[in-house]
Amino acid sequence: MYDPSYASNNLVSKLRAASIGHDQACFLEDAASGTATSYGAFFARAEQIAKALVARGLQPGDRLAVQAPKTQAMLELYVGTVMAGGVFLPLNTAYTASEVAYFLGDAEPRLLVCDPGRLAELEPIATAAGVGSILTLGPDESGSLTQACDEQTPGFEAVTRQATDLAAILYTSGTTGRSKGAMLSHAALASNSETLKDYWQFTRDDVLIHALPIFHTHGLFVATNVTLMAGSACLFMPSFNAETIMLAMPRATALMGVPTFYVRLLEMPGLAEASANMRLFVSGSAPLLAETHDRWRAITGHAILERYGMTETNMNTSNPYEGERRAGTVGFPLPGVELKVTSPETGESLGIDEIGVIEVRGPNVFSGYWRMPEKTAEELRADGFFITGDLGKIDNQGYVHIVGRGKDLIITGGYNVYPKEIELLIDDLPDVIESAVIGVPHADFGEGVVAVVVAQPNAQLDENQVRQGLADKLARFKQPKRVVIVEALPRNTMGKVQKNLLREQYKDSFSL
Ligand code: AMP
Repeated sequence: MYDPSYASNNLVSKLRAASIGHDQACFLEDAASGTATSYGAFFARAEQIAKALVARGLQPGDRLAVQAPKTQAMLELYVGTVMAGGVFLPLNTAYTASEVAYFLGDAEPRLLVCDPGRLAELEPIATAAGVGSILTLGPDESGSLTQACDEQTPGFEAVTRQATDLAAILYTSGTTGRSKGAMLSHAALASNSETLKDYWQFTRDDVLIHALPIFHTHGLFVATNVTLMAGSACLFMPSFNAETIMLAMPRATALMGVPTFYVRLLEMPGLAEASANMRLFVSGSAPLLAETHDRWRAITGHAILERYGMTETNMNTSNPYEGERRAGTVGFPLPGVELKVTSPETGESLGIDEIGVIEVRGPNVFSGYWRMPEKTAEELRADGFFITGDLGKIDNQGYVHIVGRGKDLIITGGYNVYPKEIELLIDDLPDVIESAVIGVPHADFGEGVVAVVVAQPNAQLDENQVRQGLADKLARFKQPKRVVIVEALPRNTMGKVQKNLLREQYKDSFSL
């Protein structure tokens, strides 16, 4: 059975296909209140939202920017926007008003949806940027969007959209330079979630724990779209909370998380019992330490499945569902995705185990950066390969390894140093929890290697012990010229270590 009212909207028709005829099935359960929303009710609300947005002037291809807390209504807004032919543009809730001003000026959205608490601050900015209309959406799901919806009669004929039409723009986290808007087409989003659903074997029987933010590709497209495409249910949580996840696991089958989720959950008593009925733990967005993978397996019996993706490309690689999930690797290119490692100097493909730049091509890849044709041309080759900026290698069994971001590469005395190689050795030393290796200006060498190390609580680790631990394992030029012991590394909401902050903090390490 197929619902013709969605058929012409490329992405929404695919997100709806699995639940047609299963309207009573639960799509989303609020983990705090236990309130369940069926597929039928979710899509009915999305239709009303679509209608309300069109009434507010949203035309096909218009952007709708939203900065609001993670709620069910925000997911309905996502689907409703796409249904109305709009381009969904979620903004990190941490962005300040001046950052929001940049995004509004750059993306020129027709509508802005924001938390009622931010209305006074954002309204003048939106007006100055020429935004046509501003609506509010509160954490209690009240606000003007809710009222605008309640005024609408049920039912909406989804707006026709082609495969290449845009469904979303996500701004990259942009640790250097201006944040860029990655344009994501209906086909890119639909094809990637369809691939992941099959690769990770999601079905109607699955219950996913959803504790990721929904302004980012991981929580919005991987977690939400895969659930919808499979007709699965999800236990929806406003943010990560280890206790809430422990309570939810006995009723769930899968968890998608960033590495810090797993590190925190490992501290919880009763993890083995709580996770006994789960079938899948996925990690991504930042590197999962092999040690975390090993400890998780020892305690729960489950091998965490690590995958690799980015805002511009959706997901590129995954460890296998069946077959060996190898710690410290991100697995194989997904079906339909081509991946190669190339020389940063010549662009030629490199051989097994040779480190270079990771390039990917496939239906998952974005359509370019919004209104930045030069940036797009620099990173997206004419033959369709996207130069990810990640450095990596492919081993002799085809597993892809990420060794860091290109911009994190250290060049000292003319030699290339890959931080990951040093970090792995430091992390193996006694009393070390984790480390980040960076390059900072050095008068003689161009850059000097600095290791920032997190010691176990109460350990008496000092700089010399780290140096000695590395002395016979690394060539002299790779050995840190300075080691600092800290309590924690700075991380962003997706668990990525913010090396740009560390480079800034330690930039004077070698100044006289
Ligand atoms: P974002 O666009 O915010 O999703 O960030 C994408 C970047 O996160 C990638 O280019 C990688 O540098 C990093 N990343 C994502 N997944 C992994 C992973 N499994 N291991 C290592 N780095 C990862």
